[in-house]
Amino acid sequence: MHSIPKSHLTGVAWPGFAGPTDVHVLALLHQLEYTQWWPAERLLEMQLLQIQLLAGHVANNVPFYKERLQPIVGLPAGKLTIDTFRQLPVLTRSDAQQFGPQLITQNLPRDHGRMIDVKTSGSSGQPLLAKATGVTGVFFRSLGLRFHFWHRRDFSGTNVAIRTSHGVPNGLRPGSWADCYPSGPTYQFDLALPVSELFRQLMEVEPQYLQTHPSLLRFLVLESLEQGRQPEKLREVRTFGEVLEPEVRSLCHQHWGVPVANNYSCTEAGILGLQCPTSGDLHVQSESVMLEVVDSDNNPCLPGETGRVILTVLHNFAFPMIRYETGDLAEVGNPCSCGRGLPVLKRIAGRVRHMIRLPNGEKVIPAYLTSSIVAVAPIRQYQLTQKSLHQFEAKLVTVRELTTDEEAALSKVFDKSMGHSFNYDFVYVDRIPPLANGKYELYRSNLN
Ligand SMILES: [Zn+2]
Repeated sequence: MHSIPKSHLTGVAWPGFAGPTDVHVLALLHQLEYTQWWPAERLLEMQLLQIQLLAGHVANNVPFYKERLQPIVGLPAGKLTIDTFRQLPVLTRSDAQQFGPQLITQNLPRDHGRMIDVKTSGSSGQPLLAKATGVTGVFFRSLGLRFHFWHRRDFSGTNVAIRTSHGVPNGLRPGSWADCYPSGPTYQFDLALPVSELFRQLMEVEPQYLQTHPSLLRFLVLESLEQGRQPEKLREVRTFGEVLEPEVRSLCHQHWGVPVANNYSCTEAGILGLQCPTSGDLHVQSESVMLEVVDSDNNPCLPGETGRVILTVLHNFAFPMIRYETGDLAEVGNPCSCGRGLPVLKRIAGRVRHMIRLPNGEKVIPAYLTSSIVAVAPIRQYQLTQKSLHQFEAKLVTVRELTTDEEAALSKVFDKSMGHSFNYDFVYVDRIPPLANGKYELYRSNLN
């Protein structure tokens, strides 16, 4: 915990003089150290002030929102109340898919940096193309550092990240796993590899920190139990990208003796919640996002109630998300015993990942290759169900029925996501509903 930021000044190592982009990340982090202790009322007041500024830009530069934001654009500065805000209509993911290009600003302020494409399958397997900016990137990095500091990670440790490769070669990676700071070695392993192989590589590296999806963590612990050996130097696992089931947390604690720290995020909106180091619940990252949890009548849920998650991303001026419904469900928690004013979520219900079985008996967790899928055909939603060792049913929600060539190209992408060649029956449907518990499965297997 005595790390010094990387210094970019000639002849100076201490104190660290951060480089031009790191400066923004660290300056924001410094503010976050204070704002986390603000009372909830003050956080809300500043959020509403920021939302008014965002809405002012959006109403003038994003045609889709012009009408929607009428109730608040004429208000004097500082006069937006939460009740008025809640009257704004909700933007569903289907709206966002349908109106895609109309949701992008025609005039991003120059000092917000470059617009970057963000492709996501989201919680419901409905592909969406959004935009991020230099500013949203700074928030992502600062909140990532907040997560490290909350959990007092030792940057000299070795880190292993197991995730969808996106073309990154397997193995030791250059650079640091602790943004803006020097760190111990960092490795990335491809999630698409069989679990037994991933466990072998993990045992070879023996890291202090492991970062991966909850569903893979579960299967790594099970593999470890089967082999009768475990990563001895491990201090903590941090999870992302999926619901962390309590069972996975207790498996890891029980068999590996290490805690799991969870990060609730979505590709289009960045980091939404980070696990509190004191209570273990998720704290909403209110400096970056207004997160509402609402019931079926769109009224705010009380502690103990579960409802739909609706986001307003405070600083994304490129692809504004104002009362945007993610498709996740969350349970509201009581104020946290740690004293932070950041709101509390007890539990998230969203998508989960499942294993599929290869003909040789290996089990693999498929990679999500949404951008490749969208590139070959106009897909709205998809779900693959393994019917036998060689056969999948590919359920699709599409803009139109696909051509034979498109189906063939899609089969190739699905094959790639599972690292094996299968046969596919294509079934076209209007909607793929979530499971009764609100979770979605992109890949299922009838063989498990
Ligand atoms: Zn807390």
